[in-house]
Amino acid sequence: MTRFSDLIEPGAEFKILGEGMSWTEGPLWLADRQACIFSDIRNNAIMAWSEHDQELSVFASNVEFTNGRAIDRNGDIVECSHGRRAIQRRSAATGEVTVLVDHFGGVRLNSPNDVVVASDGAIWFSDPAYGLEMPGEGYPGEREYGDRWVFRFDELTGMLWPVVTDVIAPNGLAFSPDESVLYICDSSNSGGEDGPGRHIRAYDVIDGRLAKWGRTIIEIDNEVPDGMKVDCEGRIWSSAGDGVRVFEPDGTEIGRITTPVRVANLCWGGHDGRTLFMCATDKLLSIRTTTTDATWARRG
Ligand code: MG
Repeated sequence: MTRFSDLIEPGAEFKILGEGMSWTEGPLWLADRQACIFSDIRNNAIMAWSEHDQELSVFASNVEFTNGRAIDRNGDIVECSHGRRAIQRRSAATGEVTVLVDHFGGVRLNSPNDVVVASDGAIWFSDPAYGLEMPGEGYPGEREYGDRWVFRFDELTGMLWPVVTDVIAPNGLAFSPDESVLYICDSSNSGGEDGPGRHIRAYDVIDGRLAKWGRTIIEIDNEVPDGMKVDCEGRIWSSAGDGVRVFEPDGTEIGRITTPVRVANLCWGGHDGRTLFMCATDKLLSIRTTTTDATWARRG
């Protein structure tokens, strides 16, 4: 079993890279800018922290309440928009935004929350209803298809298909390094919600298209997971309110990073990919680790 102390750089300390945001979400490292961008959701903005300048700046404003995001195979940004109830692409070069998908079966999506792009280019995203139901995180609206699912969108064919329908409030998503397993956080036990979910479920991915045979592998005691990432050895790093918890692929807990404020999302980045960025309430935090995201080698 991994020793937790081996995963954190010796002597590493938290850094507060920025503060004073409303509620931070959706961090993503942009290699071409050497910057971590993230959503300041209730201020309806995207912020950027530059490693070179060690400074925070506004990356984009009036962004229709973006949440999670990922890099696609061309280096552009695929992101979730609560306001548009859509998955959209933001050009890395021009910043131009194009809606990729916002309907299923003739009705609107809820409010896409987190997204991953598989190595075949397919876009997998969660569609809980927080953007419709949390004040200041989108616009009030109805759950038009009546549920909250995880979808797979194939841009080449335009095919949108629900792949997981048995998670009450699907939130953070991540693949195992070989993409044979999709992990999904259920956050249905968060404030004001209706479900028992504060766990992470694992689904075997079949032919890169279907996620079936789900099982709960992690229960987060007394907290709720939101976003998570998988490292290059397949370990799961999940937000859990009071910090970040690290698990073996089978769900065995390895250790915890306890943070001074609540953490909702995280990502790796930095020049060597080993800096863990954490969106923590109004702040962006970082700590140095000894590992990288499972997709780091692919991103080059
Ligand atoms: Mg989320």
